[in-house]
Amino acid sequence: MTPRVLVVLFDGLRPDLVGPATTPHLHRLQQQGVVLARQRTVYPSETRVALTTLVTGAQPGGHGIVGNGYLDRTFDAPRYIDTADDHAVAAHDEATGGALVHAPSLGEVLAAHGRTMAVLASNSTGATLPLNHKAQRLGHLTLSGHARHLATSAQTLAALEARLGPLPAAEAKGTPDLAAQKWLTSAFLDVVCPELRPDVAILSFSEPDFSSHYSGTAARETLRAIAFVDAQFGRVLDWWEAEGRSAGVQLIAASDHGHVTAHARANVAEVLATAGLRCGSPGEPDLDAVLIPGQAGALYLREPSAEIVGRAVAAMMEAPWCGPLFTAPRTDTLGIAAGSLSRCLVFGEHARAPDILFAYRADDRLDPFGLPGGTWSASWPLGLGIHGGLHEKEMASVGLVAGSAFKSGVVSQTPSGIGDFAPTILSLLRIGQPKGMTGRVLHETLATAPIELPPVTKHAHETAAGAYRQRLLHVSVGNAAYIDHGTAEAW
Ligand SMILES: [Zn+2]
Repeated sequence: MTPRVLVVLFDGLRPDLVGPATTPHLHRLQQQGVVLARQRTVYPSETRVALTTLVTGAQPGGHGIVGNGYLDRTFDAPRYIDTADDHAVAAHDEATGGALVHAPSLGEVLAAHGRTMAVLASNSTGATLPLNHKAQRLGHLTLSGHARHLATSAQTLAALEARLGPLPAAEAKGTPDLAAQKWLTSAFLDVVCPELRPDVAILSFSEPDFSSHYSGTAARETLRAIAFVDAQFGRVLDWWEAEGRSAGVQLIAASDHGHVTAHARANVAEVLATAGLRCGSPGEPDLDAVLIPGQAGALYLREPSAEIVGRAVAAMMEAPWCGPLFTAPRTDTLGIAAGSLSRCLVFGEHARAPDILFAYRADDRLDPFGLPGGTWSASWPLGLGIHGGLHEKEMASVGLVAGSAFKSGVVSQTPSGIGDFAPTILSLLRIGQPKGMTGRVLHETLATAPIELPPVTKHAHETAAGAYRQRLLHVSVGNAAYIDHGTAEAW
């Protein structure tokens, strides 16, 4: 029979928080499938960027969602798109003639082959939409655990509420987001799976990301949220072990990024002022540089000449918070500003790309909960969880595949990425990989006759200017390259 695929996402779950004590059910599945021990997300390590890569199999420069927020300068007046706002995202899609996402998305590819996809997500509205942004037009099911206006269709939601009770109200900030996870899991197990039988389903839990942001990476509340979503996953796993696996359902569990802890405050505007540039937030008047809010450093300049980019970068590189930094390409690997690397090295080259893309400097110090990974931040409360940069604990993400199509009880040390799931899913469904889907099929995980994998290689890209130096580590499987992590320091 044609295998069906279920993808279960745990927003912001660090792989080192998966284990028998913290996530007994995920741990149980680890024994039955292939653990992707070197799984990485994309950069910037932000939810909406990574989830778009998950469903397109394309890098940010390929799909165009280059940050959780970005400026689109292809309009007469640059437009700021905050992808947290699903209305703004939908309006941008319309204004660009349907070209919000530049690579074909899983929902569209499946629909073109007469297949269906269902999305059940408790993430923010802006993170739910890109999982299948054309769902309404395609006639595919989307259910948001929090926003009823995202449901496709309203009638399906009404029918589900009649059986399962109303959609839970959103939790106050800082309260673990639990009720929606339970409602969506019930919707999947009781109705979507047995009755609607989509070819691919994505069940996406907003935790532990929410709790890590508001309580800390391994705070009591966060561990409680992890245990809760793992218990919901346990309900799915009980069904899968009882009937799903033997019915040919392939199961993928993943997270979109990790988390580190904010430990020091960065002031970008103050540093750019020393270079004679007035920097502020989108919408402020008379700016030389727009800093996109959030942890992924993105600066758009009014006049992005090599001279001005160079002046801004030189000032930034003297600041203690300046991590790895990327500008438009000057050579294959170097950016136009001294000390910067090319944006192409982080697969971020796109018309929407910022003139200066940078990560805040991060290190391996232990956070208040004993977990390694700390960073500077421009805005986030110190001591709490954050992500968006290039630290290994932000880039490392959960990856696990299981089912009759996959090997069992294996830990894979072959590098892999969040963009490899879409091509692997299409391969399971015997659908060809569309142009623009640049991830690779995870052949090493498949139970079928082994194929010889291309060699795994490592390559460090390094550059320096003055007392600043940075290093970006790539790992590759043949032509498929992944960003392992990046660092910067003063020396
Ligand atoms: Zn996330």
